[in-house]
Amino acid sequence: MDVRRWAFDVFFINANLDPDAASFRRALLSWYRKNRRDLPWRHSADPYAILVSEFMLQQTQVATVIAYYNEWLHRFPDFATLAAASENDVLHAWQGLGYYSRARNLRATAIAVMEKHGGTFPRDLESIRKLPGIGRYTANAIATFAFNQSVPIVEANIARVLSRVFDLQTPIDTSAGRERLWSVAAQLVPRRNTGQHNSALMELGALVCGVRPKCLSCPVRRFCRTTEPMVLPRKKARPALQLRTEHHGFALRRHRVLLEQSQRRWRGMWILPRLESAPPALQPLHRSEFPFTHHRITLAVYAHKSAAQRTPRQNWFPIRELCSIPIPSPHRRALNRLLAATEQRLS
Ligand code: SF4
Repeated sequence: MDVRRWAFDVFFINANLDPDAASFRRALLSWYRKNRRDLPWRHSADPYAILVSEFMLQQTQVATVIAYYNEWLHRFPDFATLAAASENDVLHAWQGLGYYSRARNLRATAIAVMEKHGGTFPRDLESIRKLPGIGRYTANAIATFAFNQSVPIVEANIARVLSRVFDLQTPIDTSAGRERLWSVAAQLVPRRNTGQHNSALMELGALVCGVRPKCLSCPVRRFCRTTEPMVLPRKKARPALQLRTEHHGFALRRHRVLLEQSQRRWRGMWILPRLESAPPALQPLHRSEFPFTHHRITLAVYAHKSAAQRTPRQNWFPIRELCSIPIPSPHRRALNRLLAATEQRLS
């Protein structure tokens, strides 16, 4: 057995400070300093900016987040501005990023920071964890990136790296698998310079130890225990993809469109009015598909004949104002196509 690997194993059996755990961190950090990407949130230690980036990066890729992050900080530069903004404005700024509960929680956190903490983000983990929408990962990420506290973080990239380095076979989406990951991450975390160490692990997962790992150029290859990186991390079998069709109406009158405020999946946002079922003997004007959790949803839009009896949650919006109200991406795409087709027909 490789002497370094043996020493690394001993470190994790005894959880003592061992020179080879330090070697692992040194190799990782030295690679990170030469190879890290220049991402805007890495220039900031402001807890607000870090919180915004962490909320945006959940479920969304870095390349998509950058433009939203810069625009968001321009529009809502601090907790006070965000807390004073309407939910409508916040959802509008988030539009296109999906998973809108993140935007609502971000605003709720800003309100809590203003009302309960006098506008200053708390530093202790217990208080951070009590803020809306903040779980173990986000709390630790802010503690490490904003306050340089010696705490571990585990997100998708780090989970992939640690599963492979330690050859973890328990599925990472079970509580036993999650706890094992957090435990090895905690043993590996340094006492100082923790923000850089955590960023480096994440960056390794993003750039080297990805879905297709580049083991030959990996800076921690000599410490890595897995012989089958492609099968790790293990996950539980996914529920089968379910197909569903949702029916909506399109009504246009005197340059105004009828929309309905959603109370469910896109709570607070404006969507094409829902129909109970497909209207008999009508072909849809528009049909498209989009994914949602383990569903593949077909959006079918029909000419809305009963628009005269609008419900209290429905409203007519001038077409020129549509760009300033929050509309989820699948409905905005449908709306744009339907309006373009109508204009073409009339010209
Ligand atoms: S050697 Fe390969 S599997 Fe192991 S950490 Fe590096 S890239 Fe990942």
